[in-house]
Amino acid sequence: MPKFELPPLPYDFAALEPHIDAQTMQIHHDKHHAAYVNNLNTALEKHADLQNKSAEDLLKGLKSLPEDIQMAVRNNGGGHVNHTMFWEIMGPKGGGEPSGALADAIKKAFGDFATFKTQLQDAGMKRFGSGWAWLVKEGSGVKIISTANQDNPLTDGLTPVLGVDVWEHAYYLKYQNRRADYLAAWWNIVNWDEVAKRFGK
Ligand code: MN
Repeated sequence: MPKFELPPLPYDFAALEPHIDAQTMQIHHDKHHAAYVNNLNTALEKHADLQNKSAEDLLKGLKSLPEDIQMAVRNNGGGHVNHTMFWEIMGPKGGGEPSGALADAIKKAFGDFATFKTQLQDAGMKRFGSGWAWLVKEGSGVKIISTANQDNPLTDGLTPVLGVDVWEHAYYLKYQNRRADYLAAWWNIVNWDEVAKRFGK
């Protein structure tokens, strides 16, 4: 019985059109995310003692895991947790701006929402190769970081609030090499209610 399962996409493949096309969503969820889940389960097969841990806890304690599975959990546990969050913080009725405590934290950290957007896009643009740009919680505030590959901020003791996938598989079919256009369009599908929920936890 595999421990981790691919969560269903919370909306249709075409729901994020025109910003993210249906084919990209289908391949991204059904192939890429599914592969991370399968590979994570395979990595844990010989480690029954770890199978009752959540994927988030595995990432938080990555450095204390058996050496033979550290890289597999880092890549595939990260891939699973990152994409599960990614689907949830997007939605067909997304866009606009956050409100409440999250809006206050963004204003405190960046001055205003427009500056925050520019800096997150910048972090995504500067990530060479594959990775993610993040808004993370640090103490009671927030800051922007980026990670390579499927590395998750949890491993460095930070709590992700929002993350945008800048792997080519996230945008190449529609945007080809134009990562900047993908990042600019991405704001139209951010589900701020879900992001605020994560900030409030
Ligand atoms: Mn991805």
